[in-house]
Parts: sequence; C-alpha cells; structure tokens
Amino acid sequence: MNIVMFGPPGAGKGSVSAFLVGEFSYPHIAAGDIIREESRKPQNKVRAYMEKGELVPDTVIMQLVGSRLRQPDCREGFILDGFPRTIVQAEFLERQRIPIDIVINLEVDEDAIVDRLSGRRMDPKTGQIYNLNTMELPEGVDREKLVQRPDDKPEVIRKRIEVYKKQTSPVIEYYRERNVLLNIDGNPELGQVVGSVREALQKVRE
Ligand code: AMP
Repeated sequence: MNIVMFGPPGAGKGSVSAFLVGEFSYPHIAAGDIIREESRKPQNKVRAYMEKGELVPDTVIMQLVGSRLRQPDCREGFILDGFPRTIVQAEFLERQRIPIDIVINLEVDEDAIVDRLSGRRMDPKTGQIYNLNTMELPEGVDREKLVQRPDDKPEVIRKRIEVYKKQTSPVIEYYRERNVLLNIDGNPELGQVVGSVREALQKVRE
C-alpha cells in the first residue's frame, strides 16, 4: 500500500510516519530529509530555496523522489512524507504510474503550527526531535545542546505557511477527487492523532 502523509509544516507528518513505519514496515521517504541531504553537497542548487522557506523546483525534487521510489524496498509500499507538494508533483506520480492508495491529510490550526515549529529542536547526536513549547525534555537531554532548523525561524515559518496555502493545499482537492483522501484532526496530542489515523486506516482496509 502506497501512503502519502500530507499537511502543513509542523502538522506532525514525521511523527505519524514513524507510527506507520512500525505498523506496516514500509520505508519512510521524507522529501525534506532528501533535500537536507542534497543541501549538504557542495554547489547544490537546493539550499537557498530551503533557507528561504520556498519549495525547491519541481524538476529537482521529482528527480530525487522519483529515483528513490523506484528502489526495490518500495515495491510492497511506502510512506511518502512531504511529497507531492504541488499539483505538478502529484501529476508526476500519476504519469510515472506510481499509484497512491491513501493520502492522510493532517489538519492543524495555524496558531498550533507556529507554536510547534518555533519550539522544534533536534538533538544533533541522535537526530531525535523535541518540542520546547509542547513537551518536557526527558532527563539527560541538555536543552543548550539542541539545535534549531534554520527554516524553523519565525520569518521563515511564516513564508512556509504561505507557500503551503498557495502551492500545496490545492493538492488536497486533487486527491479528494480521486477518493483517496483521509482527513485527520492533527490538533490533539500525538497519541490521539495516531489513534485517529489507526482507526481511519482500519476502516479503509475492511
Ligand atoms: P520539510 O522537512 O518537509 O519541511 O521540507 C524542508 C524543505 O525542503 C521545504 O521547505 C522545501 O524547501 C524542501 N522540500 C521538501 N519537500 C519538497 C517538495 N515536495 N517540493 C519542493 N520542495 C520541497
């Protein structure tokens, strides 16, 4: 089963994906991670877009994600997180005959998005994500050592939300028309959101 995780930045796509990986053992393919890896290469063309909170050009991301989805580990299914983010990208999947069975659309209020993104920090050693605004740090985690993603700064957050509204949200309608959209309230705490996703998936699979 091929699943797309959809929603605005900070909706919890990564966290819900981690749950789905446990449930299905499919690979988790996060477009943002692919872009961050690409941005570390010398003379890459993606970092400038990312740091401004803009989408990288469709041609670039389609090439990167397209080749990843053709790897053998994706044959049984995948959890695609953060792609497609434009109609052009959604059409690309269709053209490549990569069917999408379910799109999990996490709906989150704009205030909560800003709260979540501005508090998001990563432990550079483990890659673990924490949120200073919504959770207590576990014992042993040093707040001072956590780092913020450059695109989680307030002015970039605002840009990313604007880009989501203009360029990405039309994709919801695209998948609604194809009858694969599952809308999930992404506002509650993670455990509750995961519960709703599990319930909705069960209904689809019955
Ligand atoms: P994310 O970690 O999903 O928030 O993505 C981080 C950044 O990577 C985005 O702000 C974009 O600059 C870029 N990016 C990720 N996915 C896409 C996509 N599907 N299309 C274009 N740019 C993307």
